[in-house]
Amino acid sequence: ATPLAVAAGIRDAARRGIVIVSDAVFEEAADVDTVVLDKTGTLTDGEMRLIDTVTDGSDSGTVRKRAAALERASAHPIAEAIVAGMTGQETERAEPAGRPAATTDGGTAAGDGRTATATEPSPAPTDVTVTDRGVTGRIAGDEVVVGHRSLFEGEAWTVPTSLDAAGAEARDAGRVPVYVGWEGRVRGVLVVGDEVRDGWEAVVEELASDGRRVVVLTGDSPAAARRFEAHPAIDEVFAEVPPEAKAETVRRLTLTERVAMVGDGSNDAPALAAADIGVSVASGTDLAADAADAVLLEDRLSAIPELFAVTRGTNRRLK
Ligand code: ADP
Ligand code: MG
Repeated sequence: ATPLAVAAGIRDAARRGIVIVSDAVFEEAADVDTVVLDKTGTLTDGEMRLIDTVTDGSDSGTVRKRAAALERASAHPIAEAIVAGMTGQETERAEPAGRPAATTDGGTAAGDGRTATATEPSPAPTDVTVTDRGVTGRIAGDEVVVGHRSLFEGEAWTVPTSLDAAGAEARDAGRVPVYVGWEGRVRGVLVVGDEVRDGWEAVVEELASDGRRVVVLTGDSPAAARRFEAHPAIDEVFAEVPPEAKAETVRRLTLTERVAMVGDGSNDAPALAAADIGVSVASGTDLAADAADAVLLEDRLSAIPELFAVTRGTNRRLK
């Protein structure tokens, strides 16, 4: 391999907002049989918005506020939607007496006599743990959990049937239901959703016309993945794959195929590492970038076929 050809390839890629981290990209991209695309943040814009709040009768402002307090600790697109949605709502809410109007976010537990600073978000949680399915922590003495339904399985939790119905309805609409509970009971479901990226169809069609199998991998329901499953350029959809199983799904594919995995997000790093070539998109975390062989700096799906085109050009020069 001539260092000059590789340097030229790296430069061509960089011009397109593609950072090539590993030589494996030049060595293996041409032989990639299968491109696995993560759904959220890759095929979709990952810009989740808080669409709706459903509760069991609990105050919906409290449910949102507690969820947002925990989600501040997470970089997941869902977390950002919940924090942003809360801020939008809260700025319109009346403030408890005695607080400056700029302190729109409430302060610590009401009536505790302490004064919140203008920028300090509230309620202030402690013992915060971010997992690949949500966030847990302690707020005003309560053990609060926000995230995937599976976090609330087990006898310790009561899940009102009305909230499971709301969750099912959200999933059928291709949205993500985020469950919020404390002290043994789920109190609400936050409905979050994002939009598919412009041009995703042209990108999967180009990958397919290059003779590659296109596979979609998602932790979300089959309903949320239905529009991708229906597209003729997409060969296979793996839905409801728990975050910890994504890497195993990719690893299994690598036994028979050469696999490139494109993913974003806090929890895709193991799957990127399991692939022959891991490609992370810009909005991914540093952790995902560390596991990646290439990083797409721009929110532009067409960079995926461009990555293959650049390495093809470089390999021609190498020969
Ligand atoms: P995808 O496979 O679509 O990229 P992820 O693997 O990123 O989705 O996440 C899987 C699921 O875990 C999400 O659909 C969501 O239900 C849940 N989840 C993960 N992180 C969070 C979080 N910070 N807050 C709420 N839910 C979360
Ligand atoms: Mg993801």
